[in-house]
Amino acid sequence: MTAKIIDGRAVSAAIRSDLKIRVQALAKKGTTPGLAVIMVGANPASAVYVRNKIRACGEVGIRSFQHNFPADADPKAILDLIEELNTRKDTHGILVQLPLPPQFSISEILQTISADKDVDGFHLYNVGGLVVGDTVFPPCTPYGVVKLLEHEGIEIEGKNVVVVGASNIVGKPMALMLMQRDATVAICHAKTRDLAQFTILADILVVAAGKPNLIVPQMVKTGAVVIDVGINRLPDGRLVGDADFEGLKNKVSHITPVPGGVGPMTVTMLLSNTIASAERAA
Ligand code: NAD
Repeated sequence: MTAKIIDGRAVSAAIRSDLKIRVQALAKKGTTPGLAVIMVGANPASAVYVRNKIRACGEVGIRSFQHNFPADADPKAILDLIEELNTRKDTHGILVQLPLPPQFSISEILQTISADKDVDGFHLYNVGGLVVGDTVFPPCTPYGVVKLLEHEGIEIEGKNVVVVGASNIVGKPMALMLMQRDATVAICHAKTRDLAQFTILADILVVAAGKPNLIVPQMVKTGAVVIDVGINRLPDGRLVGDADFEGLKNKVSHITPVPGGVGPMTVTMLLSNTIASAERAA
């Protein structure tokens, strides 16, 4: 079997063309969607992510406001800024790039963002919405995975899904979203004993552990769908996912590459959430 390589860049481009049309419709009502991006410190990976998000906003017509703080910033300054952004009419989404320096309480920062502008979907209100299947802003990475599956016509209902990774930003919301779509979901994590005994049952395997080569062909059922969320930089500089892409591509039915799979979708869903927020405000 030769896998269909799911082209996240192409799916992303198709979704972004639709987003541009929604931005034009908003312009007719006198609204330009606005996203505020707050970054603290100079983490090189965060700087790349922020740059990509700002560039993507420009491409679809979202106005972006970048707020950079030094690594030793007083958390109060960021909390005050968030309070101000919560009230601004030109700002429909507020994003704080994680991780934050150790003097910050991430939960305090995230809970200060108005649930109406929480385009990352990390506020407890939105997390609760996800649990009951009524989300306002679905978290961007798992939302992007769902959109990829939908775009490829991969049925979710009734499927055995295994999610490897149980973080608050990827694994847990991913599991909830797929459960909401009537999949049977198992969640594995670093303490799971005998990972392969779970992964081998998956019709759809979503991997978000941040461990290169964690998923090898003998752990995966023939014909399964493999969605690789992992992003790992190898010592030789190469970027790889968590799955053995070369080994798996002759065994599974669909697989996402890294880079060029889930990554572009994450940013696209951030744009989508920001536009949805502006549409609600308009
Ligand atoms: P995290 O470190 O917060 O969580 C990792 C999860 O994987 C934890 O639940 C941990 O228990 C589990 N895990 C670790 N080792 C494991 C093992 N050997 N077996 C089973 N489970 C194991 O990471 P995160 O923020 O959820 O990100 C996960 C990966 O996804 C990272 O590589 C990250 O860079 C990537 N990521 C990609 C995107 C994207 O847009 N493509 C977005 C967010 C995160």
